[in-house]
Amino acid sequence: MARPQDTRPEVVASATDLEQVARTLAEKLFGPAGPAWGTTFEDLEELVVQVGRTVSRELLRQALQKQAAGPVPADRQPCPGCQQSTPPTDPEPRILATRVGDAEWNEPAADCSRCRRTFFPSVGESGD
Ligand SMILES: [Zn+2]
Repeated sequence: MARPQDTRPEVVASATDLEQVARTLAEKLFGPAGPAWGTTFEDLEELVVQVGRTVSRELLRQALQKQAAGPVPADRQPCPGCQQSTPPTDPEPRILATRVGDAEWNEPAADCSRCRRTFFPSVGESGD
Protein backbone atom coordinates (compact mmCIF):
# COMPACT_ATOMS: atom_id res chain seq x y z
CA MET A 1 0.00 0.00 0.00
CA ALA A 2 1.30 3.43 -0.90
CA ARG A 3 2.50 5.59 1.94
CA PRO A 4 0.38 8.65 2.61
CA GLN A 5 2.04 11.77 1.26
CA ASP A 6 1.75 15.36 2.33
CA THR A 7 -0.60 17.38 0.18
CA ARG A 8 1.45 19.41 -2.29
CA PRO A 9 1.22 23.22 -1.91
CA GLU A 10 -0.05 23.50 -5.51
CA VAL A 11 -3.05 21.36 -4.51
CA VAL A 12 -3.77 23.48 -1.43
CA ALA A 13 -3.52 26.66 -3.53
CA SER A 14 -5.95 25.18 -6.10
CA ALA A 15 -8.57 24.09 -3.55
CA THR A 16 -11.19 26.58 -4.75
CA ASP A 17 -10.69 25.64 -8.41
CA LEU A 18 -10.84 21.92 -7.57
CA GLU A 19 -14.07 22.41 -5.62
CA GLN A 20 -15.57 24.18 -8.63
CA VAL A 21 -14.48 21.36 -10.97
CA ALA A 22 -16.04 18.79 -8.60
CA ARG A 23 -19.25 20.86 -8.35
CA THR A 24 -19.48 21.06 -12.16
CA LEU A 25 -18.88 17.33 -12.58
CA ALA A 26 -21.37 16.42 -9.82
CA GLU A 27 -24.01 18.59 -11.50
CA LYS A 28 -23.38 16.94 -14.90
CA LEU A 29 -23.22 13.40 -13.52
CA PHE A 30 -26.09 13.50 -11.02
CA GLY A 31 -28.16 16.55 -11.83
CA PRO A 32 -29.28 19.19 -9.31
CA ALA A 33 -30.84 16.63 -6.91
CA GLY A 34 -27.70 14.51 -6.62
CA PRO A 35 -27.51 10.75 -7.13
CA ALA A 36 -30.80 8.87 -7.19
CA TRP A 37 -31.92 7.27 -3.92
CA GLY A 38 -30.87 3.63 -3.99
CA THR A 39 -27.57 4.31 -5.66
CA THR A 40 -25.06 2.23 -3.75
CA PHE A 41 -22.01 3.73 -2.13
CA GLU A 42 -19.91 1.24 -4.11
CA ASP A 43 -21.36 2.50 -7.41
CA LEU A 44 -20.70 6.12 -6.42
CA GLU A 45 -17.18 5.33 -5.29
CA GLU A 46 -16.38 3.44 -8.51
CA LEU A 47 -17.72 6.29 -10.63
CA VAL A 48 -15.77 9.01 -8.81
CA VAL A 49 -12.57 6.95 -8.88
CA GLN A 50 -12.94 6.52 -12.66
CA VAL A 51 -13.70 10.23 -13.10
CA GLY A 52 -10.68 11.14 -10.96
CA ARG A 53 -8.38 8.90 -12.96
CA THR A 54 -9.70 10.31 -16.22
CA VAL A 55 -9.19 13.91 -15.02
CA SER A 56 -5.70 12.99 -13.78
CA ARG A 57 -4.70 11.42 -17.11
CA GLU A 58 -6.02 14.40 -19.05
CA LEU A 59 -4.22 16.86 -16.78
CA LEU A 60 -1.02 14.88 -17.18
CA ARG A 61 -1.44 14.68 -20.97
CA GLN A 62 -2.04 18.43 -21.27
CA ALA A 63 0.93 19.30 -19.02
CA LEU A 64 3.30 16.95 -20.86
CA GLN A 65 2.08 18.13 -24.26
CA LYS A 66 2.72 21.79 -23.34
CA GLN A 67 6.17 20.97 -21.98
CA ALA A 68 7.01 19.01 -25.14
CA ALA A 69 5.82 21.85 -27.40
CA GLY A 70 8.57 24.16 -26.13
CA PRO A 71 12.23 24.07 -27.16
CA VAL A 72 14.33 21.25 -25.68
CA PRO A 73 16.88 22.78 -23.28
CA ALA A 74 20.53 22.24 -24.25
CA ASP A 75 21.23 20.25 -21.09
CA ARG A 76 18.54 17.74 -22.16
CA GLN A 77 20.00 17.11 -25.62
CA PRO A 78 23.00 14.87 -24.82
CA CYS A 79 22.41 11.13 -25.26
CA PRO A 80 22.07 9.50 -21.81
CA GLY A 81 24.33 6.67 -23.03
CA CYS A 82 27.34 8.46 -24.54
CA GLN A 83 26.66 12.15 -23.72
CA GLN A 84 26.95 13.09 -27.44
CA SER A 85 24.80 16.13 -28.22
CA THR A 86 21.78 14.82 -30.12
CA PRO A 87 19.32 17.36 -31.52
CA PRO A 88 15.67 16.38 -31.15
CA THR A 89 13.69 15.22 -34.18
CA ASP A 90 10.02 15.68 -35.01
CA PRO A 91 7.60 14.83 -32.20
CA GLU A 92 6.57 11.20 -31.88
CA PRO A 93 3.65 9.65 -30.00
CA ARG A 94 4.66 8.84 -26.45
CA ILE A 95 2.84 6.58 -23.99
CA LEU A 96 3.86 6.08 -20.37
CA ALA A 97 2.16 3.89 -17.79
CA THR A 98 1.23 6.00 -14.76
CA ARG A 99 -0.58 5.41 -11.47
CA VAL A 100 -3.77 6.61 -13.15
CA GLY A 101 -3.41 4.68 -16.42
CA ASP A 102 -1.54 5.35 -19.65
CA ALA A 103 -0.60 8.95 -20.41
CA GLU A 104 -0.32 9.74 -24.14
CA TRP A 105 1.19 12.81 -25.80
CA ASN A 106 3.51 13.81 -28.65
CA GLU A 107 7.09 14.61 -27.77
CA PRO A 108 10.33 15.32 -29.66
CA ALA A 109 12.57 12.25 -29.68
CA ALA A 110 16.30 12.09 -30.36
CA ASP A 111 18.22 9.43 -32.28
CA CYS A 112 21.80 8.84 -31.16
CA SER A 113 23.81 7.66 -34.17
CA ARG A 114 26.67 6.47 -31.97
CA CYS A 115 24.54 4.35 -29.61
CA ARG A 116 21.91 3.61 -32.29
CA ARG A 117 19.06 4.28 -29.94
CA THR A 118 16.20 6.69 -29.51
CA PHE A 119 15.55 8.64 -26.34
CA PHE A 120 13.12 11.28 -25.20
CA PRO A 121 14.84 14.36 -23.76
CA SER A 122 12.17 14.88 -21.08
CA VAL A 123 12.75 11.63 -19.23
CA GLY A 124 15.61 9.85 -21.01
CA GLU A 125 15.61 6.55 -22.87
CA SER A 126 12.55 5.12 -24.55
CA GLY A 127 11.10 2.18 -22.72
CA ASP A 128 11.64 -0.75 -25.04
ZN1 LIG B 1 24.62 7.84 -27.48
